[in-house]
Amino acid sequence: MLTPTPALIQIATTADDPLRILIVGAGVAGVTIAQLLRRHGLHPTLVERAGADADEGYMLALMPMTDPVIAELEGRDRYLAASVALGRYGLRAHTGRLVREDSLARIVGRFGDYRGISRGQLLSVLSADGGTVSYDTSVRRLSDSGKETVATLRSGNEEFEAGFDLVIAADGIHSTTRYLVLHRDQVSVVDTGWGGWVIWLEPDAATDLGEELWGEDFFVGSYPVRNGLGVFVGGARADTEAGPTRFAAHIRTSLTTCDSRIARILDTLATSRNPYYWPLTDCRAKRWSTGRVVLLGDAAAGFLPTAGIGAGMAMESAGVLARTLRGATARDVPELLRIYEENQRPRVEAAQDTSRRLARLMFRQSKVFATLRDLAMSKVSVEAALGPIKKLLADSPLPTAPTGSHE
Ligand SMILES: Cc1cc2nc3c(=O)[nH]c(=O)nc-3n(C[C@H](O)[C@H](O)[C@H](O)COP(=O)(O)OP(=O)(O)OC[C@H]3O[C@@H](n4cnc5c(N)ncnc54)[C@H](O)[C@@H]3O)c2cc1C
Repeated sequence: MLTPTPALIQIATTADDPLRILIVGAGVAGVTIAQLLRRHGLHPTLVERAGADADEGYMLALMPMTDPVIAELEGRDRYLAASVALGRYGLRAHTGRLVREDSLARIVGRFGDYRGISRGQLLSVLSADGGTVSYDTSVRRLSDSGKETVATLRSGNEEFEAGFDLVIAADGIHSTTRYLVLHRDQVSVVDTGWGGWVIWLEPDAATDLGEELWGEDFFVGSYPVRNGLGVFVGGARADTEAGPTRFAAHIRTSLTTCDSRIARILDTLATSRNPYYWPLTDCRAKRWSTGRVVLLGDAAAGFLPTAGIGAGMAMESAGVLARTLRGATARDVPELLRIYEENQRPRVEAAQDTSRRLARLMFRQSKVFATLRDLAMSKVSVEAALGPIKKLLADSPLPTAPTGSHE
């Protein structure tokens, strides 16, 4: 677990390092790179805008590209204990009828682990080595003196400056740090016009079954994690404004088949008080590195959750960046960041393209389209939709990790 530490104390510890690094954002990407760099003997300053007791979010299906990073952190046993194997994917038609069930173990399993885990549990697994973090802290300004980047940090009510050889902006899809180095028009956004709620249920017997229902104007996805079932229910933002109770009722009237999992989901949604709402947008920065500042994870390319791969790519990118920086001196940083971007950006954008393509298929409001889609999907395995991602998995930039699930 990370120990909350005043920012000035972290900065003083960082000052003795051969590479003085500031990491902004203690989410999936920020914690991954912090822990990898700590293993390399560095003491990066890790800051997080949220408080220590912030809600840690939603469920994640994690693809095998995370295995090498988890192996490097010697966290595989903890990871297996904190997650569940996702062996099957079920797709339901707009009426609720099961269209098909595919073996994820067969499609993805040959590349490594495919597992369901809550974001909070993942952060615990990644940070099991310990380390420091400053909560309620963010960056207000960045200026480049040529020799270093000076960051103006705000921690609680205090503001102070510190010099760094490298600043890693890992502050997520709504990153404000990236706009300290990029203009707004250097970041493009896809807004699907949809959004939805995350709710949690007790697990059911099918702990290896991730299931999605692609409705005529709604979406229901349920993904097992250890001791729970994470659920996303979404629709066009204009429709979900009606609130979870009315939206759950709308879904129920659209279905002719309502199996026990879907029934439980709709009951829970209908009685949920203010479940967290996620607008379904993404973003893509035209460049990732500017001098001594680099964007990492969703700050660089923020994912729609449709392909379930954003966190996987954020962790892979953290692994690649950490390797690129190994043994570097302050002078090397701008060139190494350029090389890192050149290698990793095409992979991440290819994965993001897959998420965008799936969004165009999933987030529609048409019964006719939904009927034709059901017909097409009854003939096409999920393997086809995941084709480009299989290519990424087969061509990992990180060393292969030992695999073979315990379950
Ligand atoms: C509902 C949902 C379901 C998803 N499902 C999956 C899935 O199944 N599989 C998958 O691989 N991916 C999934 N994703 C995508 C995945 O969660 C993201 O791609 C991943 O978390 C990106 O990691 P990150 O570290 O870049 O961002 P985050 O994990 O969002 O972390 C960013 C951190 O920065 C902090 N922060 C923000 N602003 C500042 C600031 N100014 N200063 C300091 N700190 C700041 C935030 O509080 C946060 O802790 C899903 C996303 C959502 C929303």
